[in-house]
Amino acid sequence: MSFVTALRCRECHREYALAATHVCEFCFGPLEVAYDYDAIRRAVSRVSIERGPASMWRYAPFLPCDAENRVDLGAGFTPLVRADNLGRRLGLRQLWIKNDTMNPTWSFKDRVVEVAATRARELGYDTLACASTGNLANSVAAHAAHAGMRAFVFIPSDLEAGKVIGSAVYHPTLVAVDGSYDDVNRLCAELGDRYPWAFVNINVRPYYAEGSKTLGYEVAEQLGWQAPDHCVVPMASGSLFTKIHKGLKELHQVGLIEEPLTRMHGAQAAGCAPIATAWSEGSFNFRPVKPRTIARSLAIGNPADGYYALRTLADTAGAAAAVSDEEVVEGMLLLAETEGIFAETAGGVVVAALRRLAEAGRIGPDETTVAFVTGAGLKTQEAVTDAVVQPLHVRATVPSFEEALAVREAAGTAGR
Ligand SMILES: *Cc1c(COP(=O)(O)O)cnc(C)c1O
Ligand SMILES: [Zn+2]
Repeated sequence: MSFVTALRCRECHREYALAATHVCEFCFGPLEVAYDYDAIRRAVSRVSIERGPASMWRYAPFLPCDAENRVDLGAGFTPLVRADNLGRRLGLRQLWIKNDTMNPTWSFKDRVVEVAATRARELGYDTLACASTGNLANSVAAHAAHAGMRAFVFIPSDLEAGKVIGSAVYHPTLVAVDGSYDDVNRLCAELGDRYPWAFVNINVRPYYAEGSKTLGYEVAEQLGWQAPDHCVVPMASGSLFTKIHKGLKELHQVGLIEEPLTRMHGAQAAGCAPIATAWSEGSFNFRPVKPRTIARSLAIGNPADGYYALRTLADTAGAAAAVSDEEVVEGMLLLAETEGIFAETAGGVVVAALRRLAEAGRIGPDETTVAFVTGAGLKTQEAVTDAVVQPLHVRATVPSFEEALAVREAAGTAGR
C-alpha cells in the first residue's frame, strides 16, 4: 500500500500519472513524487516504524512503491556512530557519522536502487539500466541479479578497478564508455528513447530519488526522534543532499518530529564543484564543469539537481565547501585512524568539508552534527595506496620482527 498521489512538476506544479517519466511536458521542470501526507500521518507512528524491519523498508509508507513486492537486499538502517575521537580533533562534542558504507553493495546507492527496482518491476519493466559514476553501477547490477532482471550498466571507461569489478561480478551487460559521466548520461538519455528499459536515474528518477529520504528518517529516529543541527553531505547531482532535507521535513509534516532547523552543508571536490562554486558566487545558476578529481563518485560536471541543492543551501542557511584532492586523502585517513571507518573518496570529501566548517566556526562545538559517509573505501583503494604506511616485512623469526619494529619506531611510523 502506497500513499502516492501523482508525479508533480517542481516548477509549474502540473500533475502527471505515476508512469516512467521525469520531465514536465509544459515547462521541462523535473517531476517529483507527491503524497497524501494526511493519510501517512494517520497510518504511521514512532512505534509502528520502530516495529518495522531493520532496513530502509521500515519507512515504506513514505516511499513511492508497494513494499510487499519489494526488491530487497537489506539496504538501510545503517549505524549512526558516535564519533568522539574525530570530534575531539575537530573541536566538536556532538559529532555522529552515518555509516552508509554498510549497505549491500557498500554505498548509499542501494537505497535509491531498491525503490527504483521495485517501482520498475511494478511498471512492468524486465530490464534495469543506469548511467553511473561507479556506485550506482554496483547497486543496479546486484539488485537486477537478485530480482532476476536484465541489467545494462553504463560507466565511464576510466573508473577505479574496485568499482568495475564490483559491477562485473554480478554479470550485467557492463558498458565502459569513452568519456566523462556527463557523456555517459547523454548517451543513456538517447538509449532511453530507443529501448524499453528502466534507467533508474533517468526515466524512473522521480521514484529513485525518493530512496535517499530514508537517510534523513533514519538519522532523526537514531537521534531519538529529533533532527540534527547540522548535516554534512556529499553532492554529485545534488539529489541526495536535497532529499535528506526533504525526509526531515516530511517527518515533521506527519507529526513525528519537531520542526527541523537543520543546516544542510554540501561537500564537493574542488576538481568538480559546480554547485559549491555557484554558492560561493551567490548564484543559483551553476556553470557545468569538466571534472578532474579523485572523487570519481562525485564527478558530475552538470548536476541534474544543482539548482535545487542551491535552494536547499539557501533555505537552511547552510554552506558549501570545495576541498582539494589532498584534503580528500587526508579526510579518508583521518576518519579511518580516529573512528575505524574506511570510507571511499566521497567520505574523504565530507570529512574534509566538515573540518573546514568546524574551523570556520560554522558548526558550534555543542551542536549536533551528522556527517554522511556514503561509500566504502575498498572500492577506491587507488586513492590511499601511496598514502598509507606499508606493512613491516619480516622473516618468520622473532629477531627479524623485533629488528624491523625497532627501525619503524625510530622513524616514528610504527602505527598505534
Ligand atoms: C552518488 C553518490 C553520491 C551523491 O549522489 P547525488 O545524489 O547524485 O548527489 C554521494 N556519495 C557517493 C559515495 C555516491 O556514490
Ligand atoms: Zn512544469
